[in-house]
Amino acid sequence: MENISIVKQHEGHSLGSYRWSNNNLICNLQMEPLVYIDYETHDYNLHFNFGLQNNTEQAEQVTITMLQTNKPVPQIIWQSGSPNHRFTKSSLIIEPIPEGYKFDINIPSYGVIYLSNTMWSPLTPINQRFHELEKTNLLESIKYGLSANQQDLLAYKLFEKRDLSRPLICISSGSHPAEGDTIATIAIAEWLTTSGHQYTDIFDIIIVPILNPDGFIIGTNGCNTNGINFFWEFLNNEPEICPEAYYFWEFLKEFPPNVYIDFHSYSTQGKSKTFGPYVKPSALYCGSSVKDAAQKLARSLQTIPGSKAQTMFSPSSMPHKITQEFNTITFAKYHLHQRMGESGMRETALLTIQKIMDAIDPSQLQDQILSPYGSLNKTIIDNFFQKCFIGRYYLPKAIKKVLGF
Ligand SMILES: [Zn+2]
Repeated sequence: MENISIVKQHEGHSLGSYRWSNNNLICNLQMEPLVYIDYETHDYNLHFNFGLQNNTEQAEQVTITMLQTNKPVPQIIWQSGSPNHRFTKSSLIIEPIPEGYKFDINIPSYGVIYLSNTMWSPLTPINQRFHELEKTNLLESIKYGLSANQQDLLAYKLFEKRDLSRPLICISSGSHPAEGDTIATIAIAEWLTTSGHQYTDIFDIIIVPILNPDGFIIGTNGCNTNGINFFWEFLNNEPEICPEAYYFWEFLKEFPPNVYIDFHSYSTQGKSKTFGPYVKPSALYCGSSVKDAAQKLARSLQTIPGSKAQTMFSPSSMPHKITQEFNTITFAKYHLHQRMGESGMRETALLTIQKIMDAIDPSQLQDQILSPYGSLNKTIIDNFFQKCFIGRYYLPKAIKKVLGF
């Protein structure tokens, strides 16, 4: 269609092949590799993000058809007048059709509208917000490495020098760019540098808002620029293809966290998903005091009304490797849900972090703080039981695969 053009040169652009049929724009999603790992498949190909520009004096109406099969139909289309602002909820009506779904949009004279089926949070304003907080507050950036496309990997610490009498809490987001979960780390950073400041006298805290900066630029849903979804496949020893995992791991070796929370968010999945944490079986922690602390924290998180915990195994994933190496208590992922809206996601993230901080007894974590990592710190019994535990879960899956089910 001559009157309308698709805007492609923007941060986060994500659209597969498309064709025009009069004023109908018929689109496919941009595809990235599926994750086949730990006998499971993860498909992150859910979202689009593109601009439409009206090149005429008259307003134009376009019908957008998104082709997809066996994927959830979104309830909300998010939009923005600029690709560098967080997208807001539109009132566009989505109609499910056998081939996927469709919706109509009016584009004003010479106007540009950016559209997505996820609450897109672009990289530039997230970085700007953290730079502002750094200038005016007690938050200091650490560049811990470079992404595959040479973007800075940035962490922000809320302490001057690591104090080993205090537990270290690491909070992250932004490994799956399309999820909008950086809302959580921004809310927490703003709170900790204002009304929640007293917690920085009890805990050392590190915030990593964007684990996967390249994905925010190239518009992937879950992968880095080399097609690695490093939450599930944490290639911490392969700096060539996954520097994001490699440098994060090196950073964690320098600052081994006692508690780690990694925020994610559901988007188009609707009511089929409920917000809440992934909780690790306590057999995967070492030492009775850390096991007890992990259970206490998990119980405290489950007092958040409406949330639902899920059990997490996945030996190749980031949180599993972190606990295996550092005995870190992880809530990774903590899933928010875009259905909550921006304010609901912010409030839930703040409640989550307060529940965790209020439930921590620093004396329970002393062993973990003072001898944080290395397999040599693990007893033979812990090692044996953890291997059996994981084996018991994965053996049936391995047998099924061999038998071709
Ligand atoms: Zn995610």
